[in-house]
Amino acid sequence: MAAVGPPQQQVRMAHQQVWAALEVALRVPCLYIIDAIFNSYYDSSQSRFCIGLQIVLRLLGIFVSSIVLILSQRSLFKFYMYSSAFLLAATSVLVNYYASLHIDFYGAYNTSAFGIELLPRKGPSLWMALIVLQLTLGIGYITLLQIHSIYSQLIILDLLIPVIGLITELPLHIRETLVFTSSLILTLNTVLVLAVKLKWFYYSTRYVYLLVRHMYRIYGLQLLMEDTWKRIRFPDILRVFWLTRITAQATVLMYILRMANETDSFFISWDDFWDLICNLIISGCDSTLTVLGMSAVISSIAHYLGLGILAFIGSTEEDDRRLGFVAPVLFFILALQTGLSGLRPEERLIRLSRNMCLLLTAVLHFIHGMTDPVLMSLSASHVSSFRRHFPVLFVSACLFILPVLLSYVLWHHYALNTWLFAVTAFCVELCLKVIVSLTVYTLFMIDGYYNVLWEKLDDYVYYVRSTGNIIEFIFGVVMFGNGAYTMMFESGSKIRACMMCLHAYFNIYLQAKNGWKTFMNRRTAVKKINSLPEIKGSRLREIDDVCAICYHEFTTSARITPCNHYFHALCLRKWLYIQDTCPMCHQKVYIEDDIKDNSNISNNNGFIAPNENPEEAVREAAAESDRELNEEDSTDCDDDVQRERNGVIQHTGPAAEELNDDTD
Ligand SMILES: [Zn+2]
Ligand SMILES: [Zn+2]
Repeated sequence: MAAVGPPQQQVRMAHQQVWAALEVALRVPCLYIIDAIFNSYYDSSQSRFCIGLQIVLRLLGIFVSSIVLILSQRSLFKFYMYSSAFLLAATSVLVNYYASLHIDFYGAYNTSAFGIELLPRKGPSLWMALIVLQLTLGIGYITLLQIHSIYSQLIILDLLIPVIGLITELPLHIRETLVFTSSLILTLNTVLVLAVKLKWFYYSTRYVYLLVRHMYRIYGLQLLMEDTWKRIRFPDILRVFWLTRITAQATVLMYILRMANETDSFFISWDDFWDLICNLIISGCDSTLTVLGMSAVISSIAHYLGLGILAFIGSTEEDDRRLGFVAPVLFFILALQTGLSGLRPEERLIRLSRNMCLLLTAVLHFIHGMTDPVLMSLSASHVSSFRRHFPVLFVSACLFILPVLLSYVLWHHYALNTWLFAVTAFCVELCLKVIVSLTVYTLFMIDGYYNVLWEKLDDYVYYVRSTGNIIEFIFGVVMFGNGAYTMMFESGSKIRACMMCLHAYFNIYLQAKNGWKTFMNRRTAVKKINSLPEIKGSRLREIDDVCAICYHEFTTSARITPCNHYFHALCLRKWLYIQDTCPMCHQKVYIEDDIKDNSNISNNNGFIAPNENPEEAVREAAAESDRELNEEDSTDCDDDVQRERNGVIQHTGPAAEELNDDTD
């Protein structure tokens, strides 16, 4: 196959995009119909039969619209083609009917249509116009139904018969017969064509049904729905639906406003404009469907906001995947939770702005989640370019200032309630998170500036981060209490209960679990490190080696593994958070029995009294490790017992020397 050049590819891409846009545009009317059906009112004064008929019609409308909404691209286009063919045929018949039978046709057209003379009064120009109109309709009809051969010309001729009757000024009853015959032939033809297509319809329906059943069996309902959601570009359809609806409403409202004010000027006053916006927003979330549309619009805004921020702070992550998804979902859940669409208009606006405040704080939290890794990588990589650091620091500063401003303004205007409490708690939490990030960043920057291995750095970072996490955890518990209070005394919906459970699981249980896991990991890693012999001083200079993890020289001390590899204690500890084996040779770094010992020790309040004969104990342990690792390990112990952490025995310089001699 020949390689497709870039211009060709671009043309093809543009082609696909045009088709996709058309497809979305064709699906949007279905949403309009569903929306109209949901928003229409029942006329309860009518008889029971009428109400029943109304309900059946509505259900049918929703069913057909839903089916059209999820049709495949090809079926959708076919559906629209046949529908338009129907429409053209109906128009053609109606035009013929009016032109032939309405005696007052000339006069009626002359006076109607806003006093504009649409059609010429009579004579050849009228006939010509009618012929052109019927020809256009006929050609459109046969093209859409894809009728070929001489048969198609016959159909066009059939449409022209009543016009011929008109031209020759036949008596009324003959013209009537002509119109009737012509429309009958057209109807018969349409039915015939559809009957032929019915075979295709049957097979394609059957095919789709089998496909869907097959996919349902393999992937399950959830994946099937996800696939459909993506295939028909549902978010795009919702966006187009919502935006066109809002635009139409805006146009109508503007028109009414101008009529009421009796002004001709294009501009309206500020107050009117504000009213207009409020009305639009209120009607923009008056049903579940419109709330969904609003969520879709919010999704794109959040997505582009995320992309913009990622580009601004120079993140390595090219695409924003989370913000464009989380923001609309959150908005939708908040709307459901507060029963937004069911509220009275004035209340709806207030509720919506409250939800928006909550959403804003959540989005700021997410932006912090984006900046934090960039901030950390910048500080850890010791990049000193100001232009790289400034955007991230700027965004962080904004993330600090915005919540402060928001809570200040809100506290200024509202009395304390559960909503204000939640927003404030979110703001304070965000400020704390920003402070933690900036503190860690500063610590790393200081470390980079002095260019000497800072052994304690890891500890400090850990303390700062865990303090932040503990505060976050406390906030999670407080927010749970706030939610429980709201549920008991304000509004206790099922959705709120579900959200509370999710909150309890993700923000309280998982966070506590992860925090505890990190803490334990760290503790065991520290224990493991301290069980390894340490070399210092002159022996260290004799080795004249670099740490195999960071490639820096040993300045103060090094740890030696049973497999005889040297590392910085700090570097090795970081490695041990992830793996238990030596980074160089993948042998076990520590001795299993140590764990048992340690667990006993930690039961004794984390302190071990020095063994009566420490050398012997250590030699025993070393002998066991010999058996396990086929490596020699001999140890000694001296006055460094005081430096033992959690009772694990450390090995010192002379011991390491001895060990080195043995292994050599
Ligand atoms: Zn190192
Ligand atoms: Zn090793």
